[in-house]
Amino acid sequence: MKKPKKVNRYCKYCKKHQEHEVSVAKKRDRGSLKKGSLPRLENRGSGTKGFGNHGKYSRKAKSAWKMSGAKSSKKPDLRYKCKTCGKISVQGKGKRAKKVEIK
Ligand SMILES: [Zn+2]
Repeated sequence: MKKPKKVNRYCKYCKKHQEHEVSVAKKRDRGSLKKGSLPRLENRGSGTKGFGNHGKYSRKAKSAWKMSGAKSSKKPDLRYKCKTCGKISVQGKGKRAKKVEIK
């Protein structure tokens, strides 16, 4: 899928159409945990003599499941940055694509 670098789009902060810069959001690292925080996890089993997490992490990681990663296309997470106010808005509905090119 090819996308233009600049698009005229409605900005909900300026309340009118403005020029927006298109970019693809990158995955951000939040340590080894994907959900929740470490203090919460440590708290979870603290009632039972300080060990265990009530089965929260007894299942294998999602990437180890049989069907995970079976599809070759993904919906890209497109972000639109308003040139006037600098606010970033997210696309409403994405379309599947194997590769995204912004030019
Ligand atoms: Zn704006």
